[in-house]
Amino acid sequence: MTAAMHPTDFTLAGALAALEEGAISAVELTRAHLDAIEALNPRLNAFITVTAEQAMAAARESDARRARGEARPLEGIPLAVKDLFCTAGVRTTAASRILGNFVPPYESTVTAQLLRDGAVFLGKANLDEFAMGSSNLTSAFGPVENPWSRRDDPETKLVPGGSSGGSAAAVAARMALGATGTDTGGSIRQPAAFCGVVGIKPTYGRCSRFGIVAFASSLDQAGPFARTVEDCAILLRSMSGHDPKDSTSANVPVPDFAAACKRSVKGLRIGVPKEYRLDGMPAEIEALWRQGLDWLRAEGAETVEISLPHTKYALPTYYIVAPAEASSNLARYDGVRYGLRVEEKGDDLRTMYERTRAAGFGAEVKRRIMIGTYVLSAGYYEAYYLKAQKVRALIARDFDQAWEKVDAIVTPATPSAAFAMGEKTDDPVTMYLNDVFTVTANLAGLPGLAVPAGLDAQGLPLGLQVIGRAFDEETVFAVGAAIERAADFKALPRVRAGA
Ligand code: GLN
Repeated sequence: MTAAMHPTDFTLAGALAALEEGAISAVELTRAHLDAIEALNPRLNAFITVTAEQAMAAARESDARRARGEARPLEGIPLAVKDLFCTAGVRTTAASRILGNFVPPYESTVTAQLLRDGAVFLGKANLDEFAMGSSNLTSAFGPVENPWSRRDDPETKLVPGGSSGGSAAAVAARMALGATGTDTGGSIRQPAAFCGVVGIKPTYGRCSRFGIVAFASSLDQAGPFARTVEDCAILLRSMSGHDPKDSTSANVPVPDFAAACKRSVKGLRIGVPKEYRLDGMPAEIEALWRQGLDWLRAEGAETVEISLPHTKYALPTYYIVAPAEASSNLARYDGVRYGLRVEEKGDDLRTMYERTRAAGFGAEVKRRIMIGTYVLSAGYYEAYYLKAQKVRALIARDFDQAWEKVDAIVTPATPSAAFAMGEKTDDPVTMYLNDVFTVTANLAGLPGLAVPAGLDAQGLPLGLQVIGRAFDEETVFAVGAAIERAADFKALPRVRAGA
C-alpha cells in the first residue's frame, strides 16, 4: 500500500494481496469501509442496515485466522449484501414495509457461502421494493443517490439504477469492495452500468436461490458487483455451486472464473445482434458499442452480424412472465407468517389480509400483483401468460441458433446513461423500456456481464454487455476483461470515500 492510497481504493484482488502481505489488516480495511459508510450513507442511502459491530467482530476473527495460517479465499473482504438475501439474525426487508421488521432465522445459501469463504458483511444494501424497478425509487426506505453526477449539472441527483441500486452505489462510492445483487430482468447489469462498476448475472441455476426473497422464480439469479471484472470473477466463484435446497440449482462444476479473465479472445466469434440497434438510441451509445467491437477485433476476435429476431417481443414477454410469478410469490405476505400485520379490533381474517397488504406494499408492487393476477386469471391465461411462455421459448431459440455462429454476444448494457430522479418516473412503461437490452438474457437463462466502457458527454459512465452460452461464464469473463483492458476506465464518481 502506497502512502497516498486510501484503504477503500483497493480492488478486491489487491486487498487480498495486501492482507496476505500484512500491509493492511482486516480490522483496518473494515474500519475504513465503515467510516466511508458513516460519512457517505446519510447522503447516498445505499444501505438500509449497517452491521458495524458484527463486521468489526468478523474482521477481528478474520485477522486471527490469517495469523494462524487458516485464511480462506475471501478472508477479511468487506462486502455489502443486497437486502433481498436472508441473513440470519439481521433484518431483511426487501425494501418493503411488509418485511420491515423481518429477522430471518436462517442464512441464504449465497451469503452462507461468502461467509464460509471469510467475507465480512458491512450491512444490507438498499434496492427497489421486492427488486421491482430500474431506479431504486420504489424502496420503502427512500431512494439511493447515484454517486456520479452530470458535469454541467452536478446538483441534479441521478438514480443509481435498479433494482440493486444500493449495491452498485456502495461499490462505486467505495463503501464496499464488492456486493451481492440479484437480476430478474437486468437488476445487476443496469445499475452496474449506471454506476460505472462491473456486474454479472450468471446462468440461471449457477447460484442457489435458497433464502433470496423471491420475485419471479424462473428469472431470478444472484450475482456479484465489484470494480473490476476479475473481482467479480473471484466473488462469483464463492457464490456459485449446487444446492440441494434449490431444485433449480444446477449440479455443474464451478470453474476458476478469475483464471478465465486472463484468457485471450483471439479467434473468438463475437455476435452483434442487429435488433439491438434501436431507433432513437443516443449516438454515443452506438459509438461506444462500435468502439467495443473494434477493441475486440484488435485483440484478434472476429465480429459477426447476427439476428435475434424475437428481440422486439422480449419486453412485453418479460412484463407478463415476471408479474405473473411475482403475484404468485407475493401471495405469502398475508400478515400471518412474516413481517407486518395490520389489524383492527373485530376484523375477520380477510379484512386483516387486505389491511396488511394495502399498508405493506408500495404502488409498483401492487401494480405488478394486479398485472400478474390479471394475466393468470381464467379467460386471460391463454391469451397472455401461455402466449408469453411460447414467445419466451422462441427468444431462447434465437440464442440457441446464434450459438452455432458465435461464442459470445456484445451489446450496450442500457439504452441511456443514469437518468435523474423524477425523470421517467411518471409513466411506468417508460421505466420498463430501460430494460430492453437486459431482459433477454433472463428469459433465455443466459449469463450476462456489464462492464464500464466509457463516458457520455456529461461524464457519466456507459456500459457494454457481454452475453454468453449457458454455463459458459468463462468466455463472458474473458471478453469482459478484454473490453476492460482496452477501455482502461479510470474515471471516478464525484461522491466517494477518500475523495
Ligand atoms: N427493472 C426490471 C423490473 O423492474 C428488472 C428488475 C430485476 O431485475 N429485479 O422488473
